Amino acid sequence: MVLIRSYYAASQAAQAIPAKPIETDVSTQCAMDTAKQWIAECTANHKRCQFSGVPRLPSRVLDVGPAVDGVSVTLHITNPHSPEHQEYVALSYCWGGPQPITTTLATLQSLRTGAEVAQFPQTIRDAIEVTRKLGFRFLWIDSICIIQDSDSDKEYEINRMSTVYKNATVTIAAAVASTANEGFLRVVRNPWRFREVSWALDGQTTTTLSIAGFKPYSLRLPLHRRGWTFQESLLSRRVLQYEDLDLVWRCQTGRPRSYLSKGISSFDHSTSLPAGVFQCGLQNKPLNMTRNARHRLWNGLIYKYSARELTDKDDRLRALAGVAQELAKVWGDTYLFGLWKSCIVEQLLWFCVQGYERQARRSPRAPTWSWVSLDCHVGFCPVYTTLALAEVSGSATSREIRLLCKVVSKAEIPPGCLRDSVYDNKTDVVEDDNLDEISYFLILGKPVRKEGDYVLALKVIKAGGAQGFRRIGYAELHTFEELTSRQPCSVTLI
Ligand SMILES: [Zn+2]
Repeated sequence: MVLIRSYYAASQAAQAIPAKPIETDVSTQCAMDTAKQWIAECTANHKRCQFSGVPRLPSRVLDVGPAVDGVSVTLHITNPHSPEHQEYVALSYCWGGPQPITTTLATLQSLRTGAEVAQFPQTIRDAIEVTRKLGFRFLWIDSICIIQDSDSDKEYEINRMSTVYKNATVTIAAAVASTANEGFLRVVRNPWRFREVSWALDGQTTTTLSIAGFKPYSLRLPLHRRGWTFQESLLSRRVLQYEDLDLVWRCQTGRPRSYLSKGISSFDHSTSLPAGVFQCGLQNKPLNMTRNARHRLWNGLIYKYSARELTDKDDRLRALAGVAQELAKVWGDTYLFGLWKSCIVEQLLWFCVQGYERQARRSPRAPTWSWVSLDCHVGFCPVYTTLALAEVSGSATSREIRLLCKVVSKAEIPPGCLRDSVYDNKTDVVEDDNLDEISYFLILGKPVRKEGDYVLALKVIKAGGAQGFRRIGYAELHTFEELTSRQPCSVTLI
């Protein structure tokens, strides 16, 4: 994508190209007024975005006080037995390393008494300023509202994060900042490297255009590269995103809106959660969404999420748990280590995205059939027909899947029937080259493809009992006579 600007309002090019993203200050009163207007319009007119009643405050929130220029803030603790219903703002940002000030068992009391705004890192100071100027009093920030040295508090609050973001009136997304010290309001916004080119406007009049490269969503902004912030964005009812080029608004209705450049947005338009996640009346009722539609949505989410970075790789399941919690409610489905019970056969057919497989490491945090067991970027193979039946227990912690499917050993496959180029690229982790020789293939489906006669298979080796297997990769096979006539058998994947 390219950005184009014309130099002077009076130039011919300026008349043809009205968007001129030259001004980049998003800390002005005008920017704040625009943000307030977006919030007001959304709360008054957007049915899909509305919360019924006033949300309940999270366990702890930062009370930024009524004064716009107050020098201190306090940590407000809500009474679990007497819920407080107040509007609040949430912050989504990159920590970028240890935080200079957090809530711990030792600092909890002093933060309740009060802390000077100047003590906080710049991103939090900016968030306090925006919260005040938008007219809100309470702000939720993970480093301040979760007790960082209490495992029990962390577990409790992380389980509630989907509600925290979903119920916030608006989430401030500090997308431009890669660390909490950078801030997002008054940063020097991306100085684009424009190149000047001549342009014949009407075939006769020549004018000058300035063109600069522009990377789309997820490749550019620090917030879009971090794992935890993925669900913070998805679960937010409304987002006010401070980017490197602009201030952008997104809610559950309509396309994103931008303050400066009128249309250049870094939001990923293709990813949003079903409306039932946000609409109280639809919650806890299985959504009328086809199995294919659920599968497509989930595949898109995992493709994007798995490419993001996590400081602790073992957070791979936890950092997406809020989204899974919400979808389990609206889909009435069971979530199993990153896959959905209703689409389990299709979703077993994931693979390491080409170029990333060498980074992959197998971890015992999840069974081998789950993409969560690896640390690499994963994709799902488009499946046209499933050729296996799966039986999984209703428990989300069950590590075993029973499959009824055709099984062939590598030795039984005639030469040329294993698609070598694909096969080579889809081995999960190269643990031991000799494993290939003792591998088997579980036939699970047919691809979305008209030409050729292929089947999609998991590459496995024997493990855990007579009919037990563990996954070592993914493969595509040409069908062959013996495979066609083979009867399915029952196997267990661990
Ligand atoms: Zn809205």
